Amino acid sequence: MNKLFDWMIAGLLLEGVVFGQSSVSQGGATAVTVIRAGTLIDGKSDQPRRDQVILVRGNRIESVSDAAAGKLPAGATVIDLSKATVLPGLIDSHTHIFLQGEAPAQGGYDANILTAPLALRAARATVAARRALEQGFTTLRDVETEGAGYGDVGIKEAIEAGYIPGPRLFVSTRAISTTGGYPLEGYAPELEMPKGAQIVDGPVEARKAAREQLDHGADWIKVYMTHRSWVGKNGELVSQPTLTVEELRAIVDETHGWGKKVACHAYSGIGLHRALDGGCDSIEHGLDLDDAAIAQMLKQGTWYVPTLSVYYTDWGPADTEAGQRDRLRAVVHEPSFRKALKAGVKIVFGTDMGGIPWTEPIAQEFLRMVEFGMPPMEAIQCATSRAAVMLDMEGQIGVVAPGAFADLVAVDANPLRDIKALERIDFVMKDGKVFRPK
Ligand SMILES: [Zn+2]
Repeated sequence: MNKLFDWMIAGLLLEGVVFGQSSVSQGGATAVTVIRAGTLIDGKSDQPRRDQVILVRGNRIESVSDAAAGKLPAGATVIDLSKATVLPGLIDSHTHIFLQGEAPAQGGYDANILTAPLALRAARATVAARRALEQGFTTLRDVETEGAGYGDVGIKEAIEAGYIPGPRLFVSTRAISTTGGYPLEGYAPELEMPKGAQIVDGPVEARKAAREQLDHGADWIKVYMTHRSWVGKNGELVSQPTLTVEELRAIVDETHGWGKKVACHAYSGIGLHRALDGGCDSIEHGLDLDDAAIAQMLKQGTWYVPTLSVYYTDWGPADTEAGQRDRLRAVVHEPSFRKALKAGVKIVFGTDMGGIPWTEPIAQEFLRMVEFGMPPMEAIQCATSRAAVMLDMEGQIGVVAPGAFADLVAVDANPLRDIKALERIDFVMKDGKVFRPK
């Protein structure tokens, strides 16, 4: 770990600069940092560039130029990454910082809601946010707190105020589903159990839930359009639909009025088609996309966040119904991804971390995307400039270019040849400040 840090520090010593004095130079002037990039993948261009110099002033990138061309400004802190590949800070557009891959042996999902005090959940979320940042993910779209209410808004405020380290967060608070459409479930019907999402029935309740969540700080609204899934009579993946088109339309109409977007969890079939008919902005998971769904996504400009990895691990035993369903999900997911890729659907990188324990590498998703036919450069763009467009942050994040926030990562490898190398990122800058994992 931290070979790049050694080079960087060596570079700083050569330049006679002591690190730690970099954020504000003497006299209170805005700090200027120069980063030498051996190879630059800027998040947008199709080709990497060699020997670039990135000039960072304060929290923004001021210029990007050929090393041969420029003269370094006097007094700048120099970070030497001339042996490394530099990329924009990465974006994971589907995470749950309030989940920890809840192990069934420890009570699983239910115990998290029934036994963990909210402060404990917030403490764990703080660690999850830190884990993301140290792996080079400088932005997350976190798609609901799973029973932890508006905790994500609080974590976001703590990061923005500098109390804790973490990525930029786009949060969606409580999420929305229907009666019979979300855990906790399976308890005695006489018991009123807490739910992992806000439950609505009817367009009036649906709109009200969206209003409440937006009012309390949601950047996105997350809707569960399918819930249970199983193997159908003809061996197909069947998913139980939740909201009606009318209910979803009320949410989408309200949310768009606030200038925000709606992410729909949808696996297949009726619920997936209702999600599209209701005008959702992004399909999450989309395990079984039929041709009509793909055509409609193209027509409506719907984003697709496939979250592949999570469906290729952690299967139930092969001789159980759940195990067979888990295997079928994976079987249909790959051709859906390939069809969407071929058709030109706007695919964005997302993992479902939290569903996956935060101890695992977030960047494992890149390898799945590449194995399923996506060129490595495009996979990187799915986690940089393309995600930025979905998040209405084009030019601000996900790109190494003048005017963008200085969110940068580096790795001691060529990720275009070895995409797994992105699991070994060991230089992270967010907002012009170097993040140093302990
Ligand atoms: Zn999820």
